[in-house]
Amino acid sequence: MDKITKNIQLEEDQMLLREGIINFPSSPGEKPQLIAGQCEACGDIAFPKKIWCGKCDGKVMKDILLSNRGKLYAYTVVRQAVPGYEVPNILGVVKVPEDDELLIMAQIRECDLKDVFNGMEVETIITELYTDFLRNKKVIGYAFKPVTVN
Ligand SMILES: [Zn+2]
Repeated sequence: MDKITKNIQLEEDQMLLREGIINFPSSPGEKPQLIAGQCEACGDIAFPKKIWCGKCDGKVMKDILLSNRGKLYAYTVVRQAVPGYEVPNILGVVKVPEDDELLIMAQIRECDLKDVFNGMEVETIITELYTDFLRNKKVIGYAFKPVTVN
């Protein structure tokens, strides 16, 4: 897929959570999107993508871009975490429009604890997730934030 590019410049003290799962915007007007895998045989979508289909055992998975937006399906507030994570933080499960069975777990950022609710509309963002103390790097990955109406 041509649209999937690697438009990111990491700083010396940063590392990616994982290669090939985020489509980074190539211009300020674009939004980041997650890259999922879709089975050519049954259409099932997996994120992160798998090398073969977990539903029908199909062996051909193609890359697809998920919508930038989804809905918060469930969440919890994390108050204790392993070193490197800031607490409290909100850990959510997000549903995207492409596949009603697909649930994406991620932190919910830029959201006050008192403002979070199930069904909240959220959008994908790229952010620093935690600090990897073994590598002494800040880990860059995806999260979601509430969609703000302007
Ligand atoms: Zn399949």
